[in-house]
Amino acid sequence: MRVTYFFYYVFINVVETLIRLFPVPAKTGYRKIGSPNEDSPVLLTCNFHLTIHRLKRAIRGINCHLLIANSKGINVWCAATGGLLNNHSVISVIKTSGIEEKVNHRKIMLPQLAAPGIEAKEIQKKTSWKVIWGPIYAKSIPSFIKNNFVKSEIMRQVKFPIIERIEMAIMWWFFLSVIQFIFWIPFIIWKPFLLEEALSLCVQIFGISVISFILFPLFEPLLKVKYKADVNFNFKRLIVIFIMMLIAATGVVIYTFVIKDYAKWMLIRWSIISFIMVIIINMDLTGTTPVLKSDLHEERLYHVVIDKEKCRGTGICVEVCPRNCLEMDTKTNKVSDPRAKDCVQCGACIVQCPFDALFFRNNQDEIISPENVRKYKLNLMGKRD
Ligand code: SF4
Ligand code: SF4
Repeated sequence: MRVTYFFYYVFINVVETLIRLFPVPAKTGYRKIGSPNEDSPVLLTCNFHLTIHRLKRAIRGINCHLLIANSKGINVWCAATGGLLNNHSVISVIKTSGIEEKVNHRKIMLPQLAAPGIEAKEIQKKTSWKVIWGPIYAKSIPSFIKNNFVKSEIMRQVKFPIIERIEMAIMWWFFLSVIQFIFWIPFIIWKPFLLEEALSLCVQIFGISVISFILFPLFEPLLKVKYKADVNFNFKRLIVIFIMMLIAATGVVIYTFVIKDYAKWMLIRWSIISFIMVIIINMDLTGTTPVLKSDLHEERLYHVVIDKEKCRGTGICVEVCPRNCLEMDTKTNKVSDPRAKDCVQCGACIVQCPFDALFFRNNQDEIISPENVRKYKLNLMGKRD
């Protein structure tokens, strides 16, 4: 039984990693984990099928109640920053799942990465349930619960390790390969031997995606964005990525000439197209790389400003920041931002601050107020919409 489950788990992970660019919704509502009673913790997550699957595996052995909120089949961070996992999703599942009859407390543990989209204050006001921000990674949940719902610094931070980079690379590879393959279908029908070329291209795109995502930490220090008044576009980043991709494309061209295939010109043409596509993705659709900021949008150059007069030292912003940018000064009881350079502009701290002491400001002194950060979420191109 255990072996069967293991293979099923691997199968789901492989298939849903390949298609994770697309929503895979699961049924919303209540799930019983183990044998919970009326004192057991209540956890909430999104209805992205893969997330639920991984979460259930991570909390095996814990008796708890699990609520699945509607995020339109998208993962927690993307859905929350994009406005799909919101107050309404949480309130709705609390009211309709029957959880209020199952427990004698009113505390609900939400994933920390949901903080850009869900307002803890509003949830408490409208349902009388108190939000506890859980750890970033599901695997930390057992220790978090054991530790009386206290998070260590490590549990609060998004790391984006190599295994996650590979996952994102595989996702992009699959998506781009399918697109390429569709373009190739007429050629394959025309000349069946081109099937081999099409498959070979898919492998090359995979190579480029994996190389660019995995190697990113090596050249990231070169690309750090500085908040200079007149900088909207970081040419250094463009040049480094361009050189890296050029090396990969040169390899493809040399390979094409060496094998002396008469489909070579088509191969070169499509390789160049893949090359451009992957550059664009790496530069701009940075939702897959939380440590990489896009410089193409001025929007991304907004930074968090602290209004010290309004700050009352609750520490909530520190607790929800996934990049550990903020710190409480115990002497003044005010927050400061010693690691502001690591900010990914997710907006979680601004959304959660109960005194509106934080807001976004860009280099032209334009401001996005807390009210607007709560109201307008990021679209696919990283703009508040
Ligand atoms: S900025 Fe807001 S959330 Fe952060 S410590 Fe001050 S009052 Fe609390
Ligand atoms: S400081 Fe930046 S990264 Fe941290 S919560 Fe605020 S917006 Fe997000």
